Amino acid sequence: MRSNSLAGGMNTPVSKLYGIGEKRAQALEKAGIMTALDLVYHLPRGYEMRGNVKTVREVEDGEVCSLMLTVASTPHTANVRRGMSITKLVGVDETGRCMITFFNQPYLREQLTTGKEVRFYGRIKRTLGSVSMTSPAYDIVSGNVPLRAFVPVYPLVEGITQKLMATAVRAALEIVFDANSKDALTDVLPLEIKKKYNLCDIKYALYSIHSPHDSDSIERARRRIAFEEIYRFALTAGLVGKGEKSNSGRRFYPPRREAFLNSLPFSLTCAQIRTIDEIESDMTGGMQMNRIVTGDVGSGKTVCAAYAAFVAVQNGTQAAIMAPTEILARQHYLDLSPLFEKLGYKCALLIGATTAAAKKKILSQLVTGEINIIIGTHSLIEDTVLFDDLGLVIIDEQHRFGAAQREKLAQKSGDCHILAMSATPIPRTLALVLYGGLDISSIDELPPGRQVISTFVVGESYRERLNGFIRKNVEEGGQVYIVCPAVEEQEEIEGENGEKLSSLDIVPIGDDRGYEVKLKTAVDFAKELSEKVFPEFTVGFIHGKMKSAQKEKVMADFVAGKIQILVSTTVIEVGVNVPTATLMIVENAEFFGLSQLHQLRGRVGRGSKKSYCILVSDSHSEKAKARLEVMRTTKNGYKIAEKDLEQRGPGDFIVQSGGRIRQSGGVDLKTAALISDTTLLYAAFDEAANTLASDPTLSGEKNAAMKKIILLKSRINA
Ligand code: ADP
Ligand code: MG
Repeated sequence: MRSNSLAGGMNTPVSKLYGIGEKRAQALEKAGIMTALDLVYHLPRGYEMRGNVKTVREVEDGEVCSLMLTVASTPHTANVRRGMSITKLVGVDETGRCMITFFNQPYLREQLTTGKEVRFYGRIKRTLGSVSMTSPAYDIVSGNVPLRAFVPVYPLVEGITQKLMATAVRAALEIVFDANSKDALTDVLPLEIKKKYNLCDIKYALYSIHSPHDSDSIERARRRIAFEEIYRFALTAGLVGKGEKSNSGRRFYPPRREAFLNSLPFSLTCAQIRTIDEIESDMTGGMQMNRIVTGDVGSGKTVCAAYAAFVAVQNGTQAAIMAPTEILARQHYLDLSPLFEKLGYKCALLIGATTAAAKKKILSQLVTGEINIIIGTHSLIEDTVLFDDLGLVIIDEQHRFGAAQREKLAQKSGDCHILAMSATPIPRTLALVLYGGLDISSIDELPPGRQVISTFVVGESYRERLNGFIRKNVEEGGQVYIVCPAVEEQEEIEGENGEKLSSLDIVPIGDDRGYEVKLKTAVDFAKELSEKVFPEFTVGFIHGKMKSAQKEKVMADFVAGKIQILVSTTVIEVGVNVPTATLMIVENAEFFGLSQLHQLRGRVGRGSKKSYCILVSDSHSEKAKARLEVMRTTKNGYKIAEKDLEQRGPGDFIVQSGGRIRQSGGVDLKTAALISDTTLLYAAFDEAANTLASDPTLSGEKNAAMKKIILLKSRINA
C-alpha cells in the first residue's frame, strides 16, 4: 500500500486512526466511512440526556433518565449459570432506593463500592413497591469534575460500539483539524455567509456536535451543519447538473402526432399536452434532452413518456424504459405494448423473471433492432444488453435508482435523450435545486372524472368497525390494500431519520423519553386476518423480501380478483394500477412520510367506484397528528408536499422524497431534517444559487474549500 504523503488531514484512512485496527476499519468502511473526514461527519443521531437527573420518588415506569445515587450496599455478584453472572447493588438518594442490576460485569464490584456517588442512566422500572434499573450507563462522581450532560448516540455500525465510535471520532477530529497538515479541514462556508446568518465556525460546530457541553451548543452546531448540508447539497447538485446539460444530442424530426393521439382511448389534458410539447422540442432541438416529468400519482405521466418513445422510434431509433420494480415494468409493458403494436412497433419486457431462452431472443432482437421498445427493470443495465441504436432512455420513479444505474443505461448509447419521471410532487423552489441541471415538466392537473378519495384517520379503538367496513367493501366487489410498516417481527425498518431500527424497539430521535410501539407486520397481520377475521375471503400478502416470481404471482392474483385483501409493505407504493381496488388502509400510519402516504392513497380510486383511504394511528404525538390531518384534508400532491415542507422543513422532506440525493455525492441532510427554522434552510438554497450564478464551476478562491470537500465526498477523482 502506498503511504499517504500528507501527514494527517481529512483524507487519512480510518485504519490509520488510533485504536482502529484492521477489523474495525473494515467495519467502518463497510458502512461507507473511509476517511477521517467521513468520521467527523458521522454525526450522532441523538444524545443520552444524562444531565436529566431525577429523584427516585418522582421517576415513572418506563422513563429514561438519570438518578444520582449513593451506593448503599456492596455489590453482590451471583453466577447464575455458566458464563453468566448477575451483579446487584442498591443505590439511594434522599427520596428513596433503587435496585441496580448488571449482567456479566462482575468487576463492577471493585468500582461501585459502598459510599460512592454514581450517576446511573437508563430506563426506569417501577413496580408497586420498588424502583429498579437494569444495565444502566454509569458515571462515577470524582471530586469536582463535572459529569457530561450529553453523551452522543451514533447510528449503528455493525462491529463498532458506541464507545469506540466516540473515541474514533475524537481521534478523527484531532486529525482533520491538525493545523500542520496541508490537508486540514478548513471552513467551507465563506466568511460573509457565516456573518450574515450568524453561523458558527466548522471546528466549533463539529466539536460541539460530537461532545456538546450544553443544549445551546448543540443547537448552534446543528444550525451551522444544517446550513452547510443544504448549501453543499445544492452546490453538488448544481455542479453535477451543469455537466449533463451542455451536451449536444441527436436531432430528431417531429413525428406526425395525430397517429399517436388517435390511438389513445382518451384525449390528453392541457398539462399533458404542454409536457409532450416540451419533450418534443427537446428531442428535436439538437441538444440532449435531460428532462424530468413530475406529476401527482395518476396524473398520466406514462402516456407522456410513451410519446417520447414514439418520437424516438419514428426516427428509427430504439427506446428503453426502466422501472424500479418488476410489477411496475410488467404493467408498463401491458399498457404500452398494445398501443405501440397498433402503431406498428414491437415492445418487449426484460425482467429478472424472464426465462433464459426468452432473454436470449430478446437480446438478439435488440441488437438487430427488431425490438423497438424495451421495457424492464435494472436488468436493462446488464452488460449483455446491447442495442442497435438506442435513442431514448426513460427512467420511471427515478429517485428509486442510483445515479450510477441511470448513467449506465444511458451509456448504452453515446448521445441518447434522457427522460425521467417522478411521482413525488415537489414544490418548484425545491425542484430547481433538487433536480440540478434537469429541465422540469410538471403535470399539475389530473385527467377529468377522477374521483375524490375520502380519507379518514382512526385509532385502534375503531378496529371492529374498520373490519366491518372492509367486509362491506369486499362484498360489494371491491378490493382492499392493507399496508404495514414492517414485514415480520424484528425486521429492521427505516427510522424517521433513515436509520435502521428494529420494529420492536422504536425510540424516536430527539425524544429523551423512549417509547415502544408494536408495529403491524405484513406477514403476521395477513395470517391473523385470513385465519381469524376474514376466513371467508382470500387474504394475500406481498413484501419486498419475497422472490420476484412470488411477488408477480400475488400481484397477478390481486389484479385478477383472486385475492380480495392484500396485506403488504410499501412495495405496492410505486405506480401499481388496479382499478377495482377501492379501499386503502395504512397501519401505523405515523411511520410513513406524507408523500409516501399520498402515493399509497393513489393506489385506489383508479376505477369508477367510490374509494377510501383509512389511516390507522394511535400516535399521541402532536406532530404526527398534524401530519395525518394534512392527509385527511388535502388531496393535491403539490399542496401536500408544501405542507410537508412547512411542517418539517426541506431537509427532512428531501430525505423522504429521495430527490437526487444519491446523485449528490454523499451529502447527507440528516441535520437539516432536524432543524425547524425553514427560513434558514431556504437561505442556504438561495446562497447556493447565488454562488453557482457567480462561480458555476466553483473555481474561485472563496469556494475552493467547498469544492475540495465536494470532490472528496463525491469520491470524484478530480
Ligand atoms: P402516473 O402519472 O401515476 O404514472 P399513469 O400514467 O399510470 O399515471 O396514468 C394513470 C391512469 O390514467 C392510466 O390508467 C391512464 O391510462 C389514465 N390516463 C392518463 N391520461 C389520461 C387522460 N388524459 N384522460 C383519461 N385517462 C388518462
Ligand atoms: Mg407511473
